Amino acid sequence: MRESFEGTRNTPFAHTTDMASSEMTTDHMLTVEWTKTDGWLAPSITPYQNLSLDPATSVLHYAFTAFEGMKAYKDKHGQVRLFRPDKNMERFNKSCARIALPTFSPTAFIELISRFAALEERFIPDKRGYSLYLRPTMIGTQKTLGVGPPGSALLYLIASPVGPYYPTGFKAISLEATDYAVRAWPGGVGDKKLGANYAPCIVPQQEAASRGFQQNLWLFGPEEYVTEVGTMNLFVAIKDKETGQKELITAPLDGTILEGVTRDSILALARERLAPEGWRISERKMTMGELHEASLDGRMMEVFGSGTAAIVAPVRKISWKGNMVDCGLSEHEESGEIALRMKGWIEARQYGDEESEWSHVC
Ligand code: PMP
Repeated sequence: MRESFEGTRNTPFAHTTDMASSEMTTDHMLTVEWTKTDGWLAPSITPYQNLSLDPATSVLHYAFTAFEGMKAYKDKHGQVRLFRPDKNMERFNKSCARIALPTFSPTAFIELISRFAALEERFIPDKRGYSLYLRPTMIGTQKTLGVGPPGSALLYLIASPVGPYYPTGFKAISLEATDYAVRAWPGGVGDKKLGANYAPCIVPQQEAASRGFQQNLWLFGPEEYVTEVGTMNLFVAIKDKETGQKELITAPLDGTILEGVTRDSILALARERLAPEGWRISERKMTMGELHEASLDGRMMEVFGSGTAAIVAPVRKISWKGNMVDCGLSEHEESGEIALRMKGWIEARQYGDEESEWSHVC
């Protein structure tokens, strides 16, 4: 599998890792400039084009850049819909504020994104699995070699049409637990979607790929807490050692993982629909040792990643300290039951088959 933006998988319809070529993007882009003295200027939608930046621009030296990843879907009536855009806007503003970039009104930005997505609607087939990946980005544009808060910024939005992540059905992935590098730490910025968080993750990802693993799994601390995977949050379903109680676990929002919109959606659906079936739903720390033990005892039910790109990505095995931790799928299975149900439930809301507050009609 070729790593693509935010873990998206290449499909005949889609994209590659970088978005350098406008062949992968739609025809237009949205830009809004900001200066410290004048605030936000009028937004404009223009043909997709290069940016012109002075070589001393602060984003190029000090990584003043934050971004979002979200999608627009077309429902069976041809209406374009966004999925929980308020969540992306909230996260975007938190990311921007952390690196001294200005914030933007969430409702005004959702309105702009809606107009943009509606304008580019011809790039979205009204078929399940197809969508328009939207990339809001903010950069500090001040020309200076001095390290300080940017006095000017550019907010822009580009988009890339994407096809189904699993064109021929689920394909479970294998992970390599990274033990020689850390992605994030308490008090750091791992919960923000900053450009600076992503470049350092590529080498461990390449290392894992060179050994045949699709993604690397980020651990934290001497306890080896399981945090997240490449560009996805991680869910684990196990049975309790003593009681056999079924538990769906994901790492807590302690500042070291990204606050995934898909993670939040899965937790909400799990509390609504799995808890009544007897599941315990937990946001808690779990160690690699706990996962290994559950696997050896036959208590491991399934493991899956979650993110905007794939919704869910079932995991077959995790390489950790010379062990191959089996994640509960039989040889012929590509997904566990929870991942499969979650994908169906979330897609139903994204494509408007099930009306919900999470779906925003553009
Ligand atoms: N973790 C990281 C590091 C990510 O980049 C992403 C993708 N945004 C996620 C988790 C999943 O977040 P979401 O569900 O909002 O796509």
